[in-house]
Amino acid sequence: MSNAPKPAPAAGAGRASTRKELPEHFKAYRHVWVAMEMEHGKVHPVSFELLGEGRKLADKRGVELAGVVMGGDGEEVAAAAIEAFEHGADVVYTIVDPILTHYRNDPYTRALTDLVNTYKPEILLLGATNLGRDLAGSVATTLLTGLTADCTELAIDDEGSLAATRPTFGGSLLCTIFTLNYRPQMATVRPRVMAMPEREPGRRGRIVSHDLGLAEAEIVTKVLDFIADGDSGRAALPYADIVVAGGLGLRSAENMQLVKALAAVLGGEYGGSRPLVQKGWITADRQIGQTGKTIRPRLYIAAGISGAIQHRVGVEGADTIVAINTDPNAPIMEFAHLAIVGDAVKILPALTDAFARHLS
Ligand code: FAD
Repeated sequence: MSNAPKPAPAAGAGRASTRKELPEHFKAYRHVWVAMEMEHGKVHPVSFELLGEGRKLADKRGVELAGVVMGGDGEEVAAAAIEAFEHGADVVYTIVDPILTHYRNDPYTRALTDLVNTYKPEILLLGATNLGRDLAGSVATTLLTGLTADCTELAIDDEGSLAATRPTFGGSLLCTIFTLNYRPQMATVRPRVMAMPEREPGRRGRIVSHDLGLAEAEIVTKVLDFIADGDSGRAALPYADIVVAGGLGLRSAENMQLVKALAAVLGGEYGGSRPLVQKGWITADRQIGQTGKTIRPRLYIAAGISGAIQHRVGVEGADTIVAINTDPNAPIMEFAHLAIVGDAVKILPALTDAFARHLS
């Protein structure tokens, strides 16, 4: 019996509805919104992925797609708005206020809930990043509405009900969650789960500026300093073009060096399966899979990884998957594009040498 997740049902299929007909006040809630995330003045790529997905939902529903950009620097916010239009937004709601220079939960929650209460979107999407998870939870509880976290698929039915699908029971099942009786319907999606839409340079739309109306004295949290964690590769992992990862088949922490060496020669990032985090061979931020990072590299090399479903869901968006495994019947062979059957401890250094010679 396969323990692969069952495909998600079509929007609305099998729904245990407790709602007889659409409440009248729901009609005020229209359009699909993406709360765009700014990271040190730049838009986080997950926001563009969400605009791509939001565009499909908005088109199906025949409504507008809007981006929400909040920040302390007017030029950065204006640049982000243009990027939002070029990735599919029809409208961008902006709030520029020095209070929003660095992310803090309280002013950002106030800003976003105020926008929602004023303009009433039917659907609100955020990235399931540290910032997005923090903000989505507090916005949903402030608005007293439903939030489905870490979705892997989004669909919409003719009544405007969002079918938000996410893994459950350790990834062995997919469940589809509806927010039938509250608005807006909120969902978060992890980076790299949705495809990046094509950018349309020159595409423009409408900007709606909104005031925050909040004084610094009303906010209890202050940002005193930023301390870099010293491993920028962790953040780069989901967006790396080449990823080399190790699994328990490496047999020792020292052999992770072989993975790192190949990743370095290829100009890529390294990661690993969950047991390697549990053994302390890699840090949690380098874990790939359902409870780690989702990646979509052009090349993924998995050394000594069996390809359990929880690992597979994090890598199957890769263009080319190369498995190095002693077992020709390992589950990873079902979805790898190329397989090298053999000892990873010998094959990794041979590949590193070959690429080093070829690329020098
Ligand atoms: P193993 O399954 O032990 O596989 C080792 C592989 O190495 C085998 O295929 C073996 O044939 C091969 N091998 C052995 N010796 C060699 C050698 N010398 N050279 C080459 N190959 C060799 N796992 C994740 O990775 N990411 C997740 O996010 C994740 N989330 C999880 C969430 C939950 C709720 C649960 C229950 C599990 C999760 N797991 C996750 C764990 C997952 O189920 C697997 O246990 C895990 O992926 C297996 O790791 P592995 O492939 O490194 O080890």
